[in-house]
Amino acid sequence: MRALYCNGKQVRLDPSFHEPTPLPDEIILNVTHCGICDTDVQLASGYMGFQGVLGHEFVGVDEYGDRYTAEINNPCRHCHWCARGLETHCPNRTVIGIFRHDGAMADRVAVPRANLHAIPESVSDHSAVFIEPLAAAFQILEQWTVFRSDKVAVLGDGKLGILCAWVLRTACENVTLIGKHLNKMALAGHDIEKILLDSASQHLAKSFDLVVDATGNPSGLETAIQLCRPRGTIVLKTTIAASHQFNLSPIVIDEITLIGSRCGPFKTAIDALQADRFPVENLIQAVYPFNQAEAAFLHASQKGSTKIILQM
Ligand SMILES: [Zn+2]
Ligand SMILES: [Zn+2]
Repeated sequence: MRALYCNGKQVRLDPSFHEPTPLPDEIILNVTHCGICDTDVQLASGYMGFQGVLGHEFVGVDEYGDRYTAEINNPCRHCHWCARGLETHCPNRTVIGIFRHDGAMADRVAVPRANLHAIPESVSDHSAVFIEPLAAAFQILEQWTVFRSDKVAVLGDGKLGILCAWVLRTACENVTLIGKHLNKMALAGHDIEKILLDSASQHLAKSFDLVVDATGNPSGLETAIQLCRPRGTIVLKTTIAASHQFNLSPIVIDEITLIGSRCGPFKTAIDALQADRFPVENLIQAVYPFNQAEAAFLHASQKGSTKIILQM
């Protein structure tokens, strides 16, 4: 089968990659669509030392033609973390397309049965590719109670930033997207306030109750600290390979609550897409046939690109 293989330095489309060998609890899906996200771009440049097939935002069909996507963390379900309900933090886990498990940028992928989520008929393949990142955005509401009157800022005008802004807007009136590109921010729509980063740093210091860093940039947290009010909350969505040194003392002085946030509830994301609550397809820049996966990956790696989808 075809697969986009990452050797930890670059990606290459292998036309005769070996078929996945499913574990006893896994089934094989025929992949139809797979999104490329910033995590994939980082993995391809060495993040986490991953070597294998990329792809964790996908739609596949089973032998009956039913459409599914799947949660990406494969916990052992036996250890004491799993027993406590912390499956996504299981130390023995593999993660589809990210850690010790081949992903879905391939004709076929093996996924644990327990991870499957059926895709409702009204959700298009292109929208369904957003289930995983949208779930990650919904995770913020699982971790923190947001009040309707809260002033919320989302840093970063990439795909995840816009998804986070949309999700937070369902919970509060005042959400501001802060980024560097007016054209990208425009994709967020009229319900979201938009401010350029320079202007926000100058005029909005200590103004927000909640600041989400979805910049994908090591400097995002520093900016978030500037914008967060005393006793406010910062949610960190950025995972980056690079380290960055700066002064953390404002977190203590301003008594800021800092929350790390990763994967989220698939069911909530699927329900939201089924209810057509977010125009996720506006975030798609291009759909490439899988045979052009290398070119697609290059496109996704360019600064300012929005969602690139591979069609198998
Ligand atoms: Zn992703
Ligand atoms: Zn476990």
